[in-house]
Amino acid sequence: MSDPIAAARAEGRTLLTEVESKQLLHDAGIPVTQARLATSADEAAQFATEMGFPVVLKIVSGDIAHKSDVGGVILGLDDADAVRAGYDSMLAAVRQAAPGAGIDGVSVQQQAKPGIEVIVGATTDPQFGPVMMFGLGGIFVEVLKDVAFRIVPLEARDAAQMVREIQGVKILEGVRGQPAADFDALERLILQVSDFVAQHPEVAELDLNPVLAYPDGVMAVDARVVLAEPAAVEA
Ligand code: ADP
Ligand code: MG
Repeated sequence: MSDPIAAARAEGRTLLTEVESKQLLHDAGIPVTQARLATSADEAAQFATEMGFPVVLKIVSGDIAHKSDVGGVILGLDDADAVRAGYDSMLAAVRQAAPGAGIDGVSVQQQAKPGIEVIVGATTDPQFGPVMMFGLGGIFVEVLKDVAFRIVPLEARDAAQMVREIQGVKILEGVRGQPAADFDALERLILQVSDFVAQHPEVAELDLNPVLAYPDGVMAVDARVVLAEPAAVEA
């Protein structure tokens, strides 16, 4: 595949699709569930058979930032027939929920095993430039605003502090007999993303939401890269 940033620029897009975002991050050594773009139900079934079940299907559109809001995510598909049916029903649902959106197809990826959902992100602050963000997934970020921030570039000590200063750290440390998350892997991921945005000034926003944190390792199952407006890069 060609350079996703160049491809998006050539089409005048600032939003990279999940497939493009994950390709970039995978190339940078960041652990992601890689997604393959299928353009027919049969191709989706073939990719799924090659990668192994269960799989997840997601809508691929440069116009859709939040896929589940428009029926664009189906989890837990266990065989080729379920993938074929899922492909068709997803396209129908998304066309109804987002009538104007251009659709590239449907991505196929392996379903990751359950873990603690965390968010690793980067935004651009008008004053400080790129800033890293870390928090637990879902209500912890959206409702409780339980997040830690640091200015890029981060040092190892920054990442170690970030994962420990959120209120929800107790969940990462393991509650009710659950094993603790792999703090080393979380810190490594935060540093990798910090390096990535430092090396890509054209990236205005990056979201890994969620990353699944395990007792051994981490895996980003969703990724969204947003480029700066072309004029802003020159400034
Ligand atoms: P959205 O664009 O709506 O954020 P996501 O790709 O984050 O879509 O998918 C929605 C949810 O589905 C995620 O928050 C996660 O819980 C689950 N999910 C997505 N992809 C995977 C995967 N590969 N393995 C396991 N769970 C997944
Ligand atoms: Mg997501």
